[in-house]
Amino acid sequence: MRVNHSYLDQFRLLGGAALSLLLLVATVVPGSTQAQRRTRAGVQTSHSRDRTSTEAREMVEVASETVCNERVRDPRGSIPIDDMQSRPSLPVDSPEALAGAQRAQRLLPAARRLVVASLKQLSRDYNVSGTKGFDLKIQRAIARVEAVKDVRPDMDSRDNASVLMRNPRTIVFGTIFLAGLPSDEAMISVLSHELVHIADGSQDNLKTLFRAVAGRASSLTGLKIRDQRAEELTCDLVGALATRSYVAATPSYEALPQRISRSLEHNCVDTDEGDDDHLSPRDTIRAILFLRPALSRELVYGR
Ligand SMILES: [Zn+2]
Repeated sequence: MRVNHSYLDQFRLLGGAALSLLLLVATVVPGSTQAQRRTRAGVQTSHSRDRTSTEAREMVEVASETVCNERVRDPRGSIPIDDMQSRPSLPVDSPEALAGAQRAQRLLPAARRLVVASLKQLSRDYNVSGTKGFDLKIQRAIARVEAVKDVRPDMDSRDNASVLMRNPRTIVFGTIFLAGLPSDEAMISVLSHELVHIADGSQDNLKTLFRAVAGRASSLTGLKIRDQRAEELTCDLVGALATRSYVAATPSYEALPQRISRSLEHNCVDTDEGDDDHLSPRDTIRAILFLRPALSRELVYGR
């Protein structure tokens, strides 16, 4: 999902020629770039760190393990994206795809509201509101989110969701992806991710915010997060925040860690590979938990 997903995202940014080049490059050298990135991250984490940061790291590790343990226990846990990738295509009229499409369409209005609120909150948290031009851009971004009307299930999109910028009112959702997210929480998270791409649009409405989030995430994790990686991470962060707000607004008897985990479980992969546009799925979980220590605490302590 992630690989193709990124190409679909890239397609809107760069156009078809660059897409072909990206496909070619990714086909030829995936192993080597991955190894280099791991080495770099390893070097950085081996530096001595102060006590607080060691504690923060341990907390993030325990919390991210909690997410993936919850997934295994939860009858409505998400399917990891590497597992989705290996599955056969699923017809649009299969019961799982239909259920997923209905869930996505039902939750779209809530996801729109939650994304707008999360974007406003993050803009305040990262001190980017009030800066030159940003307030106008975020208004534009919000208007784009509010204009999204449909989710279109698509068998050929398999385990991807995507948005074509020439039709920013529709999120195209692969049927394997729809079927792989069997909880409202997971669906809110992924819908929110796509809505942030739409919000940014081709005018880079949210670039300042993406940079601010990525700068903070880089300093906390030691990972290199720039350009498209910054956008993807912010999309995932908004997904997690929107889901947390959704959980707060819809009380249930299910345990808090179980519900929060669902927003991140699709990243609980066995094959943990990133690319130029995405952190690896498990690093994505870690980065989000570093950025939101309150989420880590709730996952670990259950409140
Ligand atoms: Zn994306």
